[in-house]
Amino acid sequence: MQTQHLTDREEELRIAAALLRDGELVAIPTETVYGLAADARNGAAVASIFKAKGRPGDNPLIVHIASKEQLTPLVAEIPPVAEALAAAYWPGPLTMIFNKAPTVPDEVTAGLSTVAVRMPSHPVAQKLIQLSGCPLAAPSANRSGSPSPTDARRVAEDMDGRIAAIVDGGACEVGVESTVVSVCGDRVRLLRPGAVTVAMLEAVAGSVDIDEAVLAPLREGAEAASPGMKYKHYAPAARVVLVRGTAEAYVRYVNDKAAEGVMALCFDGEEAGLTVPYLTYGRREDPAAQAQQVFEALRQLDERGAALAYTACPSPEGIGLAVYNRLLRAAGFEVITLE
Ligand code: AMP
Ligand code: MG
Repeated sequence: MQTQHLTDREEELRIAAALLRDGELVAIPTETVYGLAADARNGAAVASIFKAKGRPGDNPLIVHIASKEQLTPLVAEIPPVAEALAAAYWPGPLTMIFNKAPTVPDEVTAGLSTVAVRMPSHPVAQKLIQLSGCPLAAPSANRSGSPSPTDARRVAEDMDGRIAAIVDGGACEVGVESTVVSVCGDRVRLLRPGAVTVAMLEAVAGSVDIDEAVLAPLREGAEAASPGMKYKHYAPAARVVLVRGTAEAYVRYVNDKAAEGVMALCFDGEEAGLTVPYLTYGRREDPAAQAQQVFEALRQLDERGAALAYTACPSPEGIGLAVYNRLLRAAGFEVITLE
């Protein structure tokens, strides 16, 4: 298949919207990461997302909408807390899990009785949903297991020849996937951290439960509240090891490990003294910059041929919790704490 490379000019967005209406796959920019979109009402189109990504069939997708009116036909009910969260954070990087309406295809929800819905704030994503008239089912536009793409070039690396089109909307502002919360139970439960932080959720919903899969590997035999948490995710080919400690202790530790294929992934401004090749991903005290840069840094590790990347461990506060959650998975939960 020849993949069309489209810009975000109106006439090219019309081409992308027509493809979506015809049941084709189009990669689109959102404020979080690039998404691989299909008409959420078209089960066959949605099934082809799984094929293009190599995604396990039991990992459900998020449905993207552009207006509150598009929510009603997707869900069984809208709990009051969801109304409040939507009023505060939609459009934006917040996904909510609702009990689903019977008409939502099983391909979208991987057979679950719930559906994940988000209203993105990116103008191109909004425009494509409006022009196509389709709610768009879209996971991240990477091959399954590899780091999420935050610009169109990275999408093309994974998806050229596999999908109908890629819309280039520049670099993603947030850089990590949306916050995912369940609003189905009595209490709001955080399933995946993102740019809408725990403090932001609590400001609207009161206290929020944090699913144990956010910070720990799923226990043997346990059922995943969010199936995506089961898989080793966001991982480059290199082995990633998280190293928790001060800048000085980190540099000493990594220099001690210097060998062929060893690289450092450290914070901006903390490179001084490193004797191994390194990449940086934002300043230690700037988790928003870390979020923007972390997936691109993981992809660059592979381009540089890293076999083992000692990665400075981010602080899990604010959006830093999302960065930490993704890196924990990239590292297969391998964390070293320095004295
Ligand atoms: P992605 O944006 O590619 O990382 O994929 C969507 C994420 O949302 C995955 O982690 C899914 O497991 C999660 N998700 C989607 N639908 C549901 C659902 N109905 N219940 C729980 N998690 C969901
Ligand atoms: Mg993904």
